Amino acid sequence: MSQDDDAYRHCLLCERRCGIDRSLKAGYCGMTDEIYAARAALHMWEEGPISGTKGSGAVFFSGCSLRCIFCQNRNIAIGKTGKLISQDRLVEIYLELQEKGAHNINLVTGTHFIPSIVQSLKTAKKKGLSIPIVYNTGNYETEDALGMLDGLVDIYLPDVKYYSEDLSAQFSNSKDYFKIAMRNVKIMLDQVGKTKFDENSIMKSGLIVRHLVLPGHTNDSKALIKSLYDEFGDDIYISIMSQYTPLLSFKDHKELSRKLTDREYDRVLDYALELGLNNAFVQEGHVASESFIPEFDYEGL
Ligand code: SF4
Repeated sequence: MSQDDDAYRHCLLCERRCGIDRSLKAGYCGMTDEIYAARAALHMWEEGPISGTKGSGAVFFSGCSLRCIFCQNRNIAIGKTGKLISQDRLVEIYLELQEKGAHNINLVTGTHFIPSIVQSLKTAKKKGLSIPIVYNTGNYETEDALGMLDGLVDIYLPDVKYYSEDLSAQFSNSKDYFKIAMRNVKIMLDQVGKTKFDENSIMKSGLIVRHLVLPGHTNDSKALIKSLYDEFGDDIYISIMSQYTPLLSFKDHKELSRKLTDREYDRVLDYALELGLNNAFVQEGHVASESFIPEFDYEGL
């Protein structure tokens, strides 16, 4: 058993710190040490320099250690949707996506499978995987878990979801979320450095923090963007997203039962401009719809 496999035996991969043996049972993330995924396909809906012209080779893993109440990928996050795949199959999937022309391999919500991701990437790189590796995360990993990815990941796409402890406690059951997420952005930036693009403006390495503006919570978004800008300035890119799609109705949080208004989104963008933020991605037009959420039909698995 490798050191990476050991990480499943007393799981401290995320800040839930369950400390359980995942060969025996699932943790808060809903997953044992068996790999489940819901889709592996070329994906055009990431930021332009990630999706490029041919698509990002996205592998959507099942399960999630955050399990936000408004999750946009709910069925896979709660582990309802997913197909069992072996580590060897994961290696083949990366190579197949590369063969299809993907600009990168985009590992979506893989926190709870980091040991398998590490092993599969090492093997795939030996077999010819050469495109950049994107690690796309809700951002609640422990420092040690991120350390396992050092040298293997080229691009980090971490969320920073909330500034307020109250919001993160209510929506993701994680009062300490902002503190952890900011710490992790620093670790990730130390690993990959400032963002670099190739001659076709496709991202080669670096970091984009993603923030989904939630309806009714623009002040939280503003405080969060200010903190990110104060701490990291133009060393990072920030993607300010408007695509929130209400999939359920919430009795206790009625604001989450509707879409974000144009006015709310503009208010956050105007504030970011006032701060002097240069390195930002924004979303244009009406992107909040269920069609923005991919089909989790096990394509490519
Ligand atoms: S990944 Fe996180 S939630 Fe899942 S078992 Fe490990 S510590 Fe718990």
